[in-house]
Order: sequence, then C-alpha cells, then structure tokens
Amino acid sequence: MNPETIQLLEKAGRIAAQVRRETAAKLSKPGTSFLEAMDYAEQRILQLKGQIAWAQMAVNDVAAHFCPTEEDTGVSKEGDIIKVDIGVHQDGWLADNAMTVVVGTPTSELQAEIKDMVKAAQNALKAAIKVVRPGAQLWEVGEAQFSEAEALGFTTVRNLSGHNIERYKVHGGITIPSYNTKDKMELQEGWQIAIEPFITNGDGLIKDKGPATVFMVEREKGVRSPQARKILEQVKSQNGLPFTTRWLTRKLGKGATALGLRELQQIGVVRPYAPLAEISGGMVTQFEHSMIVTEKGAKVYTRHEEDGW
Ligand code: MN
Ligand code: MN
Repeated sequence: MNPETIQLLEKAGRIAAQVRRETAAKLSKPGTSFLEAMDYAEQRILQLKGQIAWAQMAVNDVAAHFCPTEEDTGVSKEGDIIKVDIGVHQDGWLADNAMTVVVGTPTSELQAEIKDMVKAAQNALKAAIKVVRPGAQLWEVGEAQFSEAEALGFTTVRNLSGHNIERYKVHGGITIPSYNTKDKMELQEGWQIAIEPFITNGDGLIKDKGPATVFMVEREKGVRSPQARKILEQVKSQNGLPFTTRWLTRKLGKGATALGLRELQQIGVVRPYAPLAEISGGMVTQFEHSMIVTEKGAKVYTRHEEDGW
C-alpha cells in the first residue's frame, strides 16, 4: 500500500474515531434524540474535513443498520445499549469503526451483565487484532473473538462478520468471521480489513427487523421515472457507499422518495439494508476497528487516544 493512500486512510480514521466518540458521548446521556445525534455525526464529519460514508446506530437487540428518518422521535433511555457505527472516507479510502455505550448510570444486576458484554466485545476485538498478520488464517481471527465472548459467558453473533475494504467498497468480498468457521484463507500483507465482533446474551444470530432506511446502489441501469432518476442523482457522489432515507426526503419529499426507492429496488439497482435484530431478543454489543495488515501485524487506524482499552 503506497504512503499517500496510508495517509488518506489515517486521516479518515482520525475523523471517524473522533466522530464515533463524540456521537456516542451524546447518546450516552438519557433523552438524546437519535435524529439529532445522527445529524450531528454527519455534520461533524464534514466539519473535520472528512467525507461521509455513513453514520449509523443501533439500540439494544438491534445490532446494526439503523438510521432515523426525518420523523423519528426516538431518544436514548436509561439502560439502553447503543452502538454507534461511523464511516468516513477520503477520496474513497475508508475508515469503518464502531463502539457501544450504555445510557445513563446502570446499577442493577442486569446492567452488570451488560457491562460484561461491553467488556467482552472489547476483549474480542483486542484478541482478534493480536492475531492479525500476513499468513494468519481467517478461522484464527474468528476463534480469537469467540473464545473471548465465551470466557465472559456470551457468544458472538455468528452471522455477522468483519470484512475487507476496498476503495469506495465497504465490503470487498472477504468475510472475517467471528467464530471458528474453519476457513483457511490467509490474510495478505497490504489488505485493508475491519474486524467487528458483535457479542450477545441471546442465541447469537440476527435477522432483518422492520423497514430499511439504509440503502446502497448495487448496479447502474437506466431508470424510467423522474423520482428514481432524482434519487440516483442525489446519491451519485456516494459512489456506491450507503445512503439513508432522510437525505432523500429532505431534498425530494416523502412521496417522491418512497416511489423512487420502490422502483429502484424492484429493478435491482438499489439494495435495502434493514435493521438487523438478534433473533431471540438478546442484547447486542459491538466494537470495530479498521486496520491494514502489515508485516509487523495490524496497523489499526481508527483508534482514539481516549478509547482507553
Ligand atoms: Mn462499521
Ligand atoms: Mn464494518
């Protein structure tokens, strides 16, 4: 990987880490509006001279892929477990990172368990990062996460995984598992990867829950309706990175957005990513870092000095 690219990744990573922490701090106070928090995250990325890849969050049994609509009235509540997942890029070079906060000041026994789940996700990510080096096999990275989850009495969400990253591509096609899949594929020097253990006190599987507010353009294709065309114009600069409904409704209105999105999904141009919830209703925690695989091990570029773990 050339030095200019590494510089762009490091800049994206610094911004992503800063915005992740600031947004999580806001949400950790009871009564914080989800809509305001996500709008803040996006504005803050721009203010720090980053480019927005995404700002997403997820609450309690939802693991990922929630973005509030314009009308969302959700606020953080005492004891909620909130995941903040921030993506920032520089010219397509991506930083993907996430963290979990518990809202308010948890005291009960249940909250003690949640604290352990936060710890387990941190431990799992730490252990996985230690395994990263050229030649390490994917199953080892998965096993490292799973055993940390088990050590504290939990499991990883097995149908969620990390991934390699390419320019303008969040998921480059390689899956970094969160348990021992026996996958013997080897990490290669120069790969850009994100590792993101999801820990749960439930069964350890997720499924789609509720309507999607996160979408990605999957392929280019001529579209008929003006609504669909306008949506594609609006999201063109994302270059295949995610977009969310409220970006569209604020520009085009609710009716046109709904119509256009429906057409784009029907013809397979746009793919929806619904919120992902744990199948048994288990609580979910997550931490995530982006890194480059180097001869010396993982070069993590989404750390923040105040992460403290
Ligand atoms: Mn992420
Ligand atoms: Mn990721």
